[in-house]
Amino acid sequence: MFLRLAGLILPSLLLLGGMGLVLPIATQLSHEYQQILSLTPYPVAFIVALLGYWFKKSRILFTALNLSGAYWLIQHGLQTSLNQPDAFVLFSSISVLLPLHMALIAIYKERGLLTPTGIIRIALILFSYLALYLSWANGSIGLYLADLPMSMLEMLIHKYYLSEAAAITFTVCFIPVLLSFILRKTYTDAALLASFISALIMLSYFDKPLISALFVSASLIALAISIMQNSYHMAFIDELTAIPARRALQDKLATLGKRYTLAMCDIDHFKKFNDTYGHDVGDQVLKMVAAKLNQVTGGGKAYRYGGEEFTLVFPGKNEEEALPYIEQLRETIANYPMHIRNQDRPKDNDQGQQQRHKRDKSEVVSVQISIGVCEKTADLADAQAVIKKADEALYASKKNGRNCSTTVHYKPKPKPTRRGQRKDYA
Ligand code: GH3
Ligand code: MG
Ligand code: MG
Repeated sequence: MFLRLAGLILPSLLLLGGMGLVLPIATQLSHEYQQILSLTPYPVAFIVALLGYWFKKSRILFTALNLSGAYWLIQHGLQTSLNQPDAFVLFSSISVLLPLHMALIAIYKERGLLTPTGIIRIALILFSYLALYLSWANGSIGLYLADLPMSMLEMLIHKYYLSEAAAITFTVCFIPVLLSFILRKTYTDAALLASFISALIMLSYFDKPLISALFVSASLIALAISIMQNSYHMAFIDELTAIPARRALQDKLATLGKRYTLAMCDIDHFKKFNDTYGHDVGDQVLKMVAAKLNQVTGGGKAYRYGGEEFTLVFPGKNEEEALPYIEQLRETIANYPMHIRNQDRPKDNDQGQQQRHKRDKSEVVSVQISIGVCEKTADLADAQAVIKKADEALYASKKNGRNCSTTVHYKPKPKPTRRGQRKDYA
């Protein structure tokens, strides 16, 4: 799990690190270029908000609004010394408001944008910044200095621009942002966490020129990347089994050279799992088989072809070379004790009453797969032709009693088959 989370957040953290390196260089740029950099977050935020709208990722859009609201105020009101009362109150307020909105956005559920909830959420962000802006614009914000609690006046650590109140807010708000990332494990939540860290860095080192332009841009870019990663994931990774899907297989097939072997795998009597235990258990079986196939060795790669069919691709190998790895997987799956609870038995089933008494007892079954293996040869025009042959070989495996592999070209020496001792659905 840790590796998965690290994989999700790493690109965004690298981006933030990159911005840290770019910062001293950016400050050496000419005034014109610095001007361009400080305007960059606006168009980027606009694009990210549009992407959030199109891809129905409301939390991305909210974050783009939150960041641009804060950035707009920073650009308008905080380009002077923080010793000025109005600048200080504005800064202190932004450094509490920004993480608060981020924490709220992190815990929001996707409710759509043009719904009452969506509109209220947008209004909450916009009005909070607008209220601050109006208060700053009419010059009254500085008057609140005397009313601010000490914690908003005192910096937590000398030289870091984070008041005690802001530090407490960031610490408290970090919990939902982090938890949402750990529990939901989505690209969006990774980008939200990165934006949160970015905001903390930006405010802590607020005296560095261009820091807000660069770190707000970095957060926005992380949000845009998360949308792309999510789209890629949706297109190429199978949602149920989390292994590469048919589209990824098509891409892989297009890159294969002249020598490769494909194995078409099909779960034996899978329909019976669905019919006997329900669709959910069927899904569990699919996940288990996919997880085992995904552990393929010998340079192979597993894909979900569709339904209860999977494809193994072995680049650079012929049937004879790939077969031991394929057989190893088939045996691993057949020998795996799959525990199934009886809770999903249909209520109107004749045996339903009886079965409900034994509800807590889990049954152990064996899942078996049949495989057809074909290597690319000169007479097979393309990968589709190889798949067709492998499918024919798979059909032969089914006819030969299932739970076995059949090759097209290579003729292995026949060896005695051992049937599983557990309940066998063949
Ligand atoms: P055989 O041994 O000949 O392959 O028989 P089979 O029952 O495995 O094959 P069949 O093609 O008759 O049934 C495949 C079933 O797979 C039918 C379909 O309802 C089920 N199925 C396809 N996709 C999914 C899925 O994502 N989840 C679940 N639970 N079932 C699925
Ligand atoms: Mg099938
Ligand atoms: Mg089947």
